[in-house]
Amino acid sequence: MAKVLIVDDSRTSRKMLRSLLEEAGYEIAGEAVNGDEGYLKYKELSPDLVTMDITMPITDGIQALQLIRHFDKEAKVVMITAAGQKEKMMQALKEGASEFITKPFDREEVINTIGRVLA
Ligand SMILES: [Mg+2]
Repeated sequence: MAKVLIVDDSRTSRKMLRSLLEEAGYEIAGEAVNGDEGYLKYKELSPDLVTMDITMPITDGIQALQLIRHFDKEAKVVMITAAGQKEKMMQALKEGASEFITKPFDREEVINTIGRVLA
C-alpha cells in the first residue's frame, strides 16, 4: 500500500486529507506542519507521495518542494492550493510538482489525482 506524507500547517486540512486517504486505503506515513519539517520527514520516512500545502510559515510549500526534489528527483509531490494562486502553481510546476489539488477538498478530486500520480 502506498505511503503518503501530509504537509500542511492547518490541522483541519491534515485531518481531512488523512481521513480521505485512509478511507481510500492509503497508509499515512506521517504529517508535518511546515516545509522544513516536511523535508526532514521526507528524508526520514521515504513516502511514495507527498501532499504539500503551498502556504505555510517558516518554509513554504514551494521551498519544501525544491528541497525534496533536490534530494530525490523522482519524488512525487502533489501541491495543495487555494484559489488565486496561479503564480505559485506555475512556479511549483517548474520545480517539478506532479499535480495540484484545490482547497476546499473534493473527495473525488483528491482520490483521482493521487491515484493518477501513483499509477
Ligand atoms: Mg496553509
